[in-house]
Amino acid sequence: MDVILFGPPGAGKGTQAGRVSDALNIPHVSTGDLFRKNLKENTALGQLARSFMDKGELVPDEVVFRLVEDRLGEDDAMKGALYDGFPRTVIQADLLNRFLIGQGRGISAVINLNVPDEVLMARIARRREVSQRVDDDAEVVQKRLQVYHTETAPVLGWLREHANVIDIDATKSIEEVGESISAALESLRG
Ligand code: AMP
Repeated sequence: MDVILFGPPGAGKGTQAGRVSDALNIPHVSTGDLFRKNLKENTALGQLARSFMDKGELVPDEVVFRLVEDRLGEDDAMKGALYDGFPRTVIQADLLNRFLIGQGRGISAVINLNVPDEVLMARIARRREVSQRVDDDAEVVQKRLQVYHTETAPVLGWLREHANVIDIDATKSIEEVGESISAALESLRG
């Protein structure tokens, strides 16, 4: 199964990903985590990504897709993956869809975590107190939300036309959101 965990920054994608990936027995593929790993290891890709990440901007599509393609070439991802923080543009969505179709697969489902901006800002402000992510800085957070609305939100329309989108109210507690996701996954498998 290839499942996309979709939603704005601060919607709880990272928090819920582990449970979904365990439930479906597919690896968690977070492009943000992959970039951060490259940053830490100081690879050329990491250095390239940093200039965009520090400003809250998107890394160019072809760079992102190369990273995803590499990751999907690993053994554990042969039967599917849970995508987190990807696709973030319509071009990325289209590239992923074509790639999967080429493998005899497809986008099995999209879990869309819905959260209004006010709630997001409050959540990210709290995360900033415990996180060491440079991109949790207030200005960068504003920028990431803006980029989400202009570049990433339109991906949802594209996904609704091409895949099965399951809408989840993600303003609730971590537990409640987790339960809604589990119920949705049950119906998917059933
Ligand atoms: P995240 O952890 O998903 O919030 O990603 C952190 C940062 O990495 C983003 O603000 C972007 O700069 C970059 N990034 C992660 N995933 C993508 C993607 N799919 N497309 C473009 N940039 C990305």
